[in-house]
Amino acid sequence: MNKYEVVIGLEVHVQLKTVSKMFCGCDNKSVNAEPNMNVCPVCLGMPGMLPVANKKAIEWTYLLGMALGGEISDYWNFERKNYFYPDLPKAYQITSATNPPVIGGGLTVVADGTERQVRIHHIHLEEDAGKLVHPSGKQYSLVDLNRAGTPLMEIVTEPDLRSASEARIFMQDLQSILRYLGISDANLEQGNMRCDANISLRPVGQKEYGTRAEIKNINSFKMVERAINYEVERQTEILDAGEKVKQETRGWDDNKGKTLPQRSKEEANDYRYFPEPDLPPVKQGGGSIIDIEAIGSMLPELPKEKASRFLSDYGLSTIDAETITSDLETARYFEQVLEEMPEIAGNSELAKTKAKKVSNWLLSELIAKLNEASTGISDTKINHKDFAALITLIDSGDISGKIAKEVFAEMFESGQSPEAIVKEKGLVQISDTGAIAKIVEEVVAVNEKSVSDFREGKQQAFGYLIGQVMAKTRGQANPKLVNEILREKLK
Ligand code: ADP
Ligand code: MG
Ligand code: ZN
Repeated sequence: MNKYEVVIGLEVHVQLKTVSKMFCGCDNKSVNAEPNMNVCPVCLGMPGMLPVANKKAIEWTYLLGMALGGEISDYWNFERKNYFYPDLPKAYQITSATNPPVIGGGLTVVADGTERQVRIHHIHLEEDAGKLVHPSGKQYSLVDLNRAGTPLMEIVTEPDLRSASEARIFMQDLQSILRYLGISDANLEQGNMRCDANISLRPVGQKEYGTRAEIKNINSFKMVERAINYEVERQTEILDAGEKVKQETRGWDDNKGKTLPQRSKEEANDYRYFPEPDLPPVKQGGGSIIDIEAIGSMLPELPKEKASRFLSDYGLSTIDAETITSDLETARYFEQVLEEMPEIAGNSELAKTKAKKVSNWLLSELIAKLNEASTGISDTKINHKDFAALITLIDSGDISGKIAKEVFAEMFESGQSPEAIVKEKGLVQISDTGAIAKIVEEVVAVNEKSVSDFREGKQQAFGYLIGQVMAKTRGQANPKLVNEILREKLK
């Protein structure tokens, strides 16, 4: 039994993939261009320049709020968070944390078989800062402002998570929702989704939360778990020694596998927040340029809804349905393959049988090959129609499951249709009983020992003979027929 309960709250930053930046017309897609080529007087913080809020960024923040069941504020405003740092030319960041656009909502995560309701405290919208570059061996740092002023959404959870794996799954589920909504690439490794993890411990049964540390620099799902687990261990040791955890910001060092102190609360900044005087407050209702109802109607089917539809319509297992729907492209691919099977329309039993086959081939063969080749499903050469055609060839008995794997590998490499590959390589399954009987006869004639072994009751001998027939047909004989014909012959 653990003495302490782990308490985690996440602050997740998400870069929105709008066309332009948050408060100016600069391209938002060229953040990785040549340093400082993607800037203008507004995002450079030139005196007297006026910001104009990006409507799309506001709409997308509402969209996520709706997807998470939060409440859209009737009236909210941008504000200035004042601090000095070289990557922030205005010496303030425009944010909206104090009076945010979205309040509340939640996400249910399932980890290790238990469900956890994670409440969202709020979602706010802000601008990102630039980047400092530290050339190795040099006495100076460089400033790249391409990222300055790009739209950033922050999702703040209540301290409702109770383990590292719950935190990771929360991040994964959120990533999948963001991608379904099409509002962010949400890639942790590329930094367009980042999270700070607040972690504290409390004795089991205690109501008050313990003192927390905030962990920064978490750049992958794996790091979410590693950093939290390390921090839990560190804090456990402190509490066990009868000492107190210091409230501080720590950074995760993935090479060392440790969190290291960055700054403590005593030296924390006073940000002197005040409403942004250069931007009007955002209101809902009459006269507002933002149409909440229209945004609501943009809300797509979300991962969990899709998974439960796959469960009921296609009879997939929970795990398969969740795996396929966790990635929108994969879910789309799956349904597009089924669309290429017109025979399943109106026949729910057949639809389920076919869907299970598609799901199996998708999850075991295609995903494995994509992983091997480190590419994504949107880049595969196998089109939906050919994928469906392969299943049809198997079901009709034209090719065996074993040959199908060969054909599939070739489809993956060349993008050819399965019919063309089967024809070109002469892979059609032999289902001609006469032809099989002839080969069986040949095999029986040259394997007298095995034949007599079988007749004396050795079952392995039968398998050996089957193997010989299959080998002679280069695996193309219909195994069921071979079995029947051989058994008949040996009677
Ligand atoms: P701050 O304004 O100092 O960042 P917040 O109250 O906004 O603090 O909380 C930030 C994050 O820390 C939230 O995700 C919240 O859930 C989490 N949090 C707050 N208190 C604790 C605690 N004792 N243990 C773990 N997480 C906490
Ligand atoms: Mg905070
Ligand atoms: Zn700009």
